[in-house]
Amino acid sequence: MKTKIIKITSLARDLDKIRYVADVIKDGGLAVLPTETVYGIAANALDPAAVSRIFEAKGRPHDNPLIVHIADLSDIDSLVSDFPKNAKKLAEKFWPGPLTIILNKTNAIPDTVSAGLNTVAIRMPLHPIIRAVIGQSGVPLAAPSANISGKPSPTNSQHCIEDLFGKVDIIVDGGLCDIGIESTVISCAALPPKVLRPGMITLEQLEAVIGEVSFDKSVTSSIPLARRASSPGMKYKHYSPDTKIILLHASFKKFANFVSNKAGAAALVFDGEEKNLMIPCVSYGVMGDAFTQSKRLFSALRELDRLGVQTVYARVPELSGAGFAVYNRLLRAAGFDEIYL
Ligand code: AMP
Ligand code: MG
Repeated sequence: MKTKIIKITSLARDLDKIRYVADVIKDGGLAVLPTETVYGIAANALDPAAVSRIFEAKGRPHDNPLIVHIADLSDIDSLVSDFPKNAKKLAEKFWPGPLTIILNKTNAIPDTVSAGLNTVAIRMPLHPIIRAVIGQSGVPLAAPSANISGKPSPTNSQHCIEDLFGKVDIIVDGGLCDIGIESTVISCAALPPKVLRPGMITLEQLEAVIGEVSFDKSVTSSIPLARRASSPGMKYKHYSPDTKIILLHASFKKFANFVSNKAGAAALVFDGEEKNLMIPCVSYGVMGDAFTQSKRLFSALRELDRLGVQTVYARVPELSGAGFAVYNRLLRAAGFDEIYL
């Protein structure tokens, strides 16, 4: 397939390009679009054939449902069978933004989108490009991350080109993603509400709006492939570079000692730590600052593969607040391999 790369810098100036992307989507095509979390591979969520093409392009397992993106709160009415009070409060507080809410679905949502579940995941993104494409096409967009399944999610258009060139109709280059990791996913389809995937919107922020919220078991444990997971996506190997990653829970001093005699290894570290290590390093943000870490983590994971080493030892982010979401992605990239020193 021929893939067009389209650079969009200003909505006002690039309205023709937005119209073109919307037309391709209305015709059943696939367009990679930037969002504030990561780049997504978007299709008309109401067109099962178009949605199937997303699964094909990504090599995504068919039992892993997709998030449906809307631009306006009224767009949700035809998609969900009920919109409970707690979900409404969350939508009012955090939309548009990096929060996905799982609700009971209507028949308007094809089974290909929900992977046969009775529920659908809905998000209203903040990024102006995807919002404009939804508005212009007049349809909700199914849009999982625009990477080959299992690889680190894409946070710039180059990552999308590496993974999906020749497999989609359009790749929109809209610069770097602001947040850099995927949305927080909360299920409000049943009580009590549960976080299925941590993200920049933290458990504490959710609880401040709707009271007690817990993490689903799948957030911290690896799920055997055969088991039916509450969030199917959480059971697959994720965010994985080809290089083996091991998380090292330790002070920097102990970390440095541990890796110093590991021939052929590399380190994933915080900014400035490289100068105190004798092995190849990639840094992924400022220590203690989850925002710089989330923004750069997936790029750093891709960069590790270019080092050509066998094993990478990684510094661990803070395990609280937004740092917990960064830790969650790193833990999955490491296949749950961690060492406590
Ligand atoms: P992605 O869009 O690739 O970042 O992945 C979407 C995430 O949302 C995956 O972890 C899915 O398993 C999860 N998800 C989507 N729809 C549902 C649903 N109806 N119920 C539970 N989890 C869902
Ligand atoms: Mg994904």
